[in-house]
Amino acid sequence: MNAIMETAASDCHPASVPDYTPIPELRELQLRRLQAVVTLAWKQVKLFRDRMDERGLTPEDIRSLEDIARLPFTQKSDLRDTYPFGLFASPMKDVVRLHASSGTTGKPIVVAYTQKDVDVWTSVLVRCFAGCGLHRGDIMQIAYGYGLFTGGLGAHYGAEGLGATVVPTSGGHADRQIMLMRDFGVTAMCCTPTYFLHLIDRAAELGVDLKELPLRAGVFGAEPWTESMRKHIEKMSSIEAFDIYGLSEIIGPGVGCECRRHQGLHIFEDHFYPEIVDPETGAPLPDGAEGELVLTTLSKQAMPMIRYRTRDITTILRGQCACGRTLRRIARIGRRSDDMLIIRGVNVFPSQVESALLQIEGTLPHYQILLTRLQGLDQMEVQVEVIGALQELHQKLQGALDRVLGIRVRVALVEANSIERSEGKAKRVIDRRTS
Ligand SMILES: [Zn+2]
Repeated sequence: MNAIMETAASDCHPASVPDYTPIPELRELQLRRLQAVVTLAWKQVKLFRDRMDERGLTPEDIRSLEDIARLPFTQKSDLRDTYPFGLFASPMKDVVRLHASSGTTGKPIVVAYTQKDVDVWTSVLVRCFAGCGLHRGDIMQIAYGYGLFTGGLGAHYGAEGLGATVVPTSGGHADRQIMLMRDFGVTAMCCTPTYFLHLIDRAAELGVDLKELPLRAGVFGAEPWTESMRKHIEKMSSIEAFDIYGLSEIIGPGVGCECRRHQGLHIFEDHFYPEIVDPETGAPLPDGAEGELVLTTLSKQAMPMIRYRTRDITTILRGQCACGRTLRRIARIGRRSDDMLIIRGVNVFPSQVESALLQIEGTLPHYQILLTRLQGLDQMEVQVEVIGALQELHQKLQGALDRVLGIRVRVALVEANSIERSEGKAKRVIDRRTS
């Protein structure tokens, strides 16, 4: 108990206390909140009530946490089909904020917050940052995009709630980001991991040594990234890199975050109930099994999400974290079920390519996958930026990719800085296949 209290105290923020709720108490709270949110959605959201009716269910049928598996799933297409406000459970006069994420086709998906939802969002981000060892006195640069995207404003409110000094730069303008980082003595950076890679490269070109700045932590999210990428970032900048997880449909960033043990991401389970299901059949899987993460918002008012299919592939880790938090953890998300490429009948994930490349000295973590079709046959080319002797590197890369992917791909070595840099999420795959 003393050790736990010590850890809680070292987080330096009273908002971290719920992270240590005894498990039976946490499960009881989750059940109470689940029953309340199901009742709210059943009363206010037609799509949800219709689906409950089809199954002959009413909110009274939810008597235990296991009963969650009886509830219908919600999918991204449900948000599109009910565009813009069809899933709202609060009247517009109680909605204080709207965010939207750009869809790949046409209309965006829209999400809503009451004041209480914004407060919950802030509180979970405070808990994320506290878990990363950040506190009042830190100077945090928020380089996630501000605007309809949830990243910028979400992290901003969280950093302010923590009591840190916020530098709201939003995305883009790398030279200015680096200047402010240096001149303001920024201690923590929040952005996508690929954008931070870009800043590392650009700082070197400008003659700024990130290792000599007060910068000590990076909270990176909004796209899948690998453990090899973390090692690379930490080596090049001498910071501690944290993985943060979230999605607009649930609340935005702050659904989960790593603590300083870096053994998976704690999910803020008092607000977001995690399940893992078989991505094909939707059947629930036990803790420890890999599958698709499904999340239910336990306290959201404006737009409750019941059993939302995230498409993110992970596992719920067994056992408790050494940090003392009772919140369950998920493994780092390296891939999404809809990222999967099918090349000549073989399943390929961009994260596999990234891991293979980063294991080889002399390659940079900048790559792109180009897909084409030649006489009806899929062709995959991996373009990799390299430094140093080329011939030997080419063979090593070819070997590493062949081993990991199980299919023959073409490797093209390209000059450093020749692959377009992203200001937000990296574009890894260019698909020029036409059927
Ligand atoms: Zn932990």
